[in-house]
Amino acid sequence: MEMGIPISNRLQKMKAEQQFDCAIIGGGLGGLCLSIALARQRHNVILFEKEQYPFHKVCGEYISMESWDYLTSLGLPLKDMQLPIIQKLVVTAPDGNQLNHALPLGGFGISRYTIDNALKEIAVQSGVTVMEGCKVDEAVFESEVFRISTSQGNFKSLCCTGSFGKRSNLDVKWKRPFVHRLPNKLNNFIAVKYHVQSNAPGDTIALHNFKNGYCGFSKIEGGKFCLCYLTNASTLKECNNSIEQMEKKVLSQNPHLKHIFANCKKLYDSPLSISQISFEQKKTVENNLLMIGDAAGLITPLCGNGMSMAIHASKIASSYISDFLKRKISRAEMEISYAAEWKKMFGKRLQAGRFIQRFFGKIWVTNFFIQTMKLFPSLTNAIIKKTHGKKF
Ligand SMILES: Cc1cc2nc3c(=O)[nH]c(=O)nc-3n(C[C@H](O)[C@H](O)[C@H](O)COP(=O)(O)OP(=O)(O)OC[C@H]3O[C@@H](n4cnc5c(N)ncnc54)[C@H](O)[C@@H]3O)c2cc1C
Repeated sequence: MEMGIPISNRLQKMKAEQQFDCAIIGGGLGGLCLSIALARQRHNVILFEKEQYPFHKVCGEYISMESWDYLTSLGLPLKDMQLPIIQKLVVTAPDGNQLNHALPLGGFGISRYTIDNALKEIAVQSGVTVMEGCKVDEAVFESEVFRISTSQGNFKSLCCTGSFGKRSNLDVKWKRPFVHRLPNKLNNFIAVKYHVQSNAPGDTIALHNFKNGYCGFSKIEGGKFCLCYLTNASTLKECNNSIEQMEKKVLSQNPHLKHIFANCKKLYDSPLSISQISFEQKKTVENNLLMIGDAAGLITPLCGNGMSMAIHASKIASSYISDFLKRKISRAEMEISYAAEWKKMFGKRLQAGRFIQRFFGKIWVTNFFIQTMKLFPSLTNAIIKKTHGKKF
């Protein structure tokens, strides 16, 4: 035993010298679900998350029912969590015109603060080494091993996945093409989120449109509501980079949003916000890492199922990674099969999301689109079908 060195440092050194079966960079829903699935197959897994759990995240917090069964199978006691079940959709146009529609599969509301932390606890209980507050600076594949440099030292693994979300330091470091694109219709978005108190119906998700953006509003646990909107960076700039001004001048043009901002009590002082969001295509395997969730491609939030896609992608990845680790398939087979299945499962959904995104933003186009959807409910059904998957 090395005397005089604190236990935490010794443990750190042991972890660094150990070679893990799989290293997972990013502990959002994709990374956490993958870590649990692999640990349950008795693989030795390390997960790096730059933040400290529990923490808030910009997200609409409506999860499509697609993932209910899989999350439950991973040990998340959704049934006992008294979560709002959401079965109705309301879409409003900037002029206030309102469309009501039933959601065929529906969803449930839960904050990222709660669900990410609950999954992290399950990961730890399942034997995953969870490195919190640990930012990965680089992951290099050399001689069949990944060497991972982090803010808490260097680590080795046989397999590595990137589940680091919409945009991370590694995207910039690896010069992934979407990072360098000039502003266009699919990038340069910003998003803002609040938790608020409201007496709106708990079984409904509302999508309120405004000039250059839309705002989701639905119930989460504990009787709270999540209010989360997406707009482009130039709208904020036109409002002197003031979120408050933007909400008054732009969002509140929609009478439904005006009512929400005037009547709902915000549950934290300043909103949570993120910028530089891009919906452009990304590669599914980058530098030999399998990309999972938003790191492989982000669906426009108006489709409301990015979280289910991240969870589903983690399930697909876990089966190929496990086969690779059990030497049933080669590394090349793992990478090619994952990329092919990812494309088959999500390629068309992402395309549809990008296409529909173009109808939202310009006031008259959105007003016209929503009026048309009202007249033809089968069009709304078709859009929901094109952008959502089945239970997995
Ligand atoms: C405005 C908005 C609203 C949305 N609303 C919904 C919705 O209502 N329903 C829905 O299903 N989807 C929604 N989405 C999409 C959803 O949020 C994402 O698809 C989902 O979070 C993807 O999960 P993930 O695991 O890929 O990434 P994330 O949940 O973003 O997790 C990535 C993690 O990686 C960590 N990380 C990043 N870089 C590093 C690093 N270098 N080292 C260590 N850790 C790192 C981050 O801290 C983060 O915790 C919305 C998206 C936006 C932009």
